[in-house]
Amino acid sequence: MELAGLNIKFIPGVGEKRASLLEQEMGIQSYEDMLYYIPYKYIDRTRIYTIRELTSDLPYIQVKAKIMNLTSVGAGKQMRMVATAYDGTGELELVWFTGHKYLASQINPDKEYLIFGKPTIFNHKMNIVHPEMDLYETSAKQLVGFQAIYPTTEKMKKSYLTSRLINKIQANIFKAINGRIQETLPAWFIKKHNLIYLHEALYNIHFPENPDMLRKAQYRLKFEELFYIQLNILKLKFNRKAAFQGHLFTTVGDYFNDFYHNHLPFPLTDAQKRVIKEIRSDCGSGKQMNRLLQGDVGSGKTLVAVMCMLIALDNGYQAAIMAPTEILATQHYETISGLLKDTPISVGLLTGSTKKKEREIIHEALSDGRLQILIGTHALLEDVVNFKNVGLVVIDEQHRFGVAQRAKLWQKNTIPPHILVMTATPIPRTLAMTLYGDLDVSVIDQLPPGRKPITTHHAFETRRLQVYKFIQKELELGRQAYIVYPMISESEKMDYRNLEEGYEHVMSYFAPLGYTADIVHGKLKPAEKEEHMRRFVSGETRILVATTVIEVGVNVPNASIMVIESAERFGLSQLHQLRGRVGRGAEQSYCILMTSYKLSNESRKRIETMTSTNDGFEIAEVDLKLRGPGDIEGTQQSGLTCNLRVANLGKDGRILNEAAQAATIILEDDPLLQKEVNQTFATQVKRLFKTKINWRYIS
Ligand code: ADP
Ligand code: MG
Repeated sequence: MELAGLNIKFIPGVGEKRASLLEQEMGIQSYEDMLYYIPYKYIDRTRIYTIRELTSDLPYIQVKAKIMNLTSVGAGKQMRMVATAYDGTGELELVWFTGHKYLASQINPDKEYLIFGKPTIFNHKMNIVHPEMDLYETSAKQLVGFQAIYPTTEKMKKSYLTSRLINKIQANIFKAINGRIQETLPAWFIKKHNLIYLHEALYNIHFPENPDMLRKAQYRLKFEELFYIQLNILKLKFNRKAAFQGHLFTTVGDYFNDFYHNHLPFPLTDAQKRVIKEIRSDCGSGKQMNRLLQGDVGSGKTLVAVMCMLIALDNGYQAAIMAPTEILATQHYETISGLLKDTPISVGLLTGSTKKKEREIIHEALSDGRLQILIGTHALLEDVVNFKNVGLVVIDEQHRFGVAQRAKLWQKNTIPPHILVMTATPIPRTLAMTLYGDLDVSVIDQLPPGRKPITTHHAFETRRLQVYKFIQKELELGRQAYIVYPMISESEKMDYRNLEEGYEHVMSYFAPLGYTADIVHGKLKPAEKEEHMRRFVSGETRILVATTVIEVGVNVPNASIMVIESAERFGLSQLHQLRGRVGRGAEQSYCILMTSYKLSNESRKRIETMTSTNDGFEIAEVDLKLRGPGDIEGTQQSGLTCNLRVANLGKDGRILNEAAQAATIILEDDPLLQKEVNQTFATQVKRLFKTKINWRYIS
């Protein structure tokens, strides 16, 4: 039975209205969508609490009680129904904001009910909002095992599309299909990995027979989901390695050696050395390199990129480095031409604002091979840009580049250049395996020596004056400061107002003291933005009030303070990136996270994480646990859908490893999935990963 093609609106309990609501709110259309709408937790319904035992720390619970004094309170939108539940040990208030009339007619004051919900404290009273209720005498016999709890939204609840109704709909689907669920893994594989069958797994995920079956059901579904993702992405890697030649870098010659012995400004860290070796061995293998270089902010990725480009030059090739913004490209150009100034190597810069004349000169020098290293923005991807023979392309801060843009690089040569993707957004290993499983990964896990760890403080907005005084002290020592405001969306008028008011506020305090400040945000004209950035980089202005446009890559070692306003509105990886703008010089640096008093649990956790660690990988792990992978920066742009229905990359690392291993074993034996025993896999991969992009071209 093709469950993906059957519309749920015909299932009892659904109907047109709820069907369209389910689609709107959760994207559920078919039987299959619904069956894969997985409970996020299970309640042990065998346990009945007494009212006296209740605390607001408890999750969903049930009590057995009589219900009295049903009355309506308030008027209009505030109107609600309130009743009291008694069980002889205490009183519990029950509150309903909708469905008043129906309820009133239903409750029988003489009967005992099983009342189910999340206890909270309101006005010093223990209460449950929108409890589920069943007559005890009829429901007692259902008190076996676990009840599945599904995520629901306010809109769904208003249409009585509750967790419980969803569970009933699931039951009705099982009735309708009567066990006809197509198995998606071959029998030999199920046996080999001790899995249960799909129909058993799906049934038990919604109606666990016992804790053991629930565990097995979860394992089967998670394992399968992660297995197919790994099979798909590793297949790309296996196939690409088989299909593509790579430029062969056989020698390390004069360019590299001269630089290494005579111009290296500081000894490489062990991590930098190790990564350069890994890259060298890739480029010498005859296969095209596709490597992801992860290194925390300030770990010295630029230098690694430069040394690898020198190896390309030593083998007679050109090299390029591509950055996501003009500011960054320009900065790379300055750093790299600085590093190479005493060598004969030619370095060029190409961005959107390169003048036509200059541009033509660059194009020419590039196509006849005189220009050896080209640094730029997206401008590098334009069709008129033709290299004589580009051997290595470094892509900095990868997540800003779309997949399609990266693919374009490949078409520039018959043999594709080696690709090194550098990212300062540390990605938890599980996410990297899922998103970049087809890339090889190198990690610089060590900062250059002598760095003082940044000290991070949390300050409430009411203490802004003290924070300004602190900034003042640093400015008096000759340092510079960033003050960052949130700009969640370019269209938010509020955000601009806050930013501009913030700027005026900063000026009103610091201008009389003789300090200058500039402002940088996305709506400034590029020329103006560049000018403001330039003034700050050169030290003419001492304070930069900005949005997250300064987030990535900007290097001003003299800046020692990063103040982040409304820090609760930023995600963890953003906070970490912003903080990475300071701590780049020899001085002690500070990051101050300003927030209002009102903090959600999640923002509190983010702030706590930031003040307790500087380790980008640790922060990325917390981020993954808090937000789930869908929101992690880079996953959207990466073009790979990472919408896991069952597994959770924050928690299921072990299962992911097992799944990756299983996929590898199959691909080593049959990289194209052509063998008879692997036909179920081939069909599923095709079905699950329909995509227009030719993935073989994606670095
Ligand atoms: P990121 O990895 O964030 O791109 P950068 O390449 O910008 O880091 O390097 C950060 C700073 O560290 C730069 O000022 C760079 O000159 C310096 N640096 C890089 N490698 C070393 C090293 N081995 N020893 C000392 N300083 C280094
Ligand atoms: Mg960098």
